[in-house]
Amino acid sequence: MIDLSKYTKELSELFSTSGDILLICHINPDGDSIGAQLALYHYLKSIGKNVSLLAPNHIQEFLKWMDGIDQINIFIKDRKKGRLLIEKADLIVMLDFNQANRMGEAEDYVTASKAKKIVIDHHLDPQNLADLIISDPSKCSTSELVHELICEINGAKFMNRSYAEALYVGIITDTGNFEHGAYSSGTFRIVADLLDTGISKVKIIDLIYNNFSSDRIRLQGFALNQRMVVIPDLKTAYIYLSKSDLKEYNYIKGDTEGFVNMPLSIKGMFFSALFIEKDNFIKLSFRSKGKFPSNEFASKYFSGGGHLNASGGEYSDSLDNTIIYFLKVLKDNRL
Ligand code: 5GP
Ligand code: MN
Repeated sequence: MIDLSKYTKELSELFSTSGDILLICHINPDGDSIGAQLALYHYLKSIGKNVSLLAPNHIQEFLKWMDGIDQINIFIKDRKKGRLLIEKADLIVMLDFNQANRMGEAEDYVTASKAKKIVIDHHLDPQNLADLIISDPSKCSTSELVHELICEINGAKFMNRSYAEALYVGIITDTGNFEHGAYSSGTFRIVADLLDTGISKVKIIDLIYNNFSSDRIRLQGFALNQRMVVIPDLKTAYIYLSKSDLKEYNYIKGDTEGFVNMPLSIKGMFFSALFIEKDNFIKLSFRSKGKFPSNEFASKYFSGGGHLNASGGEYSDSLDNTIIYFLKVLKDNRL
């Protein structure tokens, strides 16, 4: 846990002296990145700031109901506008990531920008990519960290309904609805305040979790039945899906979200991996229980990173070869 009060002055100054503030989430944004981005947006708007929003690529359907989501510019949809927003910003705030390549195609423009830069994030080992890096891996979500920082600079609790919904989405998605991750008693105190604004947790849970197509549910069944391999010796299970598997089930982005968590509910499993075949590489997701540092594994072998128990990476080879390589390096790191 870090003492957030030490950032208050610098953060307030950066916000108050900047004319154009740009908030950017990470590529393939999840609920936490978008939740943190929108919460900060609602706060900065409430104090009269000029704020723009940028996402490197598309936002998943299950987040599209959120207040302010239509204000997010998608870089790969309108590159000219994305570049313009980056160029005219005096201050760029990066939310829920700490590596420049998490900005996708926007990376080079943000890196070249003369704007002041802030990172607000809860992943380990931040790269030195900003003037002010506020990184607290003890937080369950960047959304939680954003809220605590806002309360510090606001001098009092800040809360309104749209803001509360954004934070709630960030917190539930990064903790799997309070199942895993670094949530604490403090998280529940924040959640209590969020619920006091009158947000409907039933509605939000429905929009986030009960929003699947029938194809997606069938793909899940197929993945568990036909594409899951359990290796008791290594306390590991993995799921692999080829491009043709995904096509068969009319895959749309986000459909495999959460699959990687499922093998960990098998008794005795401490590590799980999901392999998804993309056009030129394999995308990997990892989950672990306990002390096995899935992020170190991801970074050492799969050019990735993330949290201790939830991480990801990629590998440029065929699906078969990637699995062979995975099994080899896994055996070198016996759990
Ligand atoms: P997921 O498995 O849900 O896609 O990702 C879980 C976590 O792993 C994310 O919150 C993110 O921190 C991290 N992660 C996933 N893919 C990558 C990657 O390619 N590179 C890095 N550095 N982190 C990743
Ligand atoms: Mn997060």
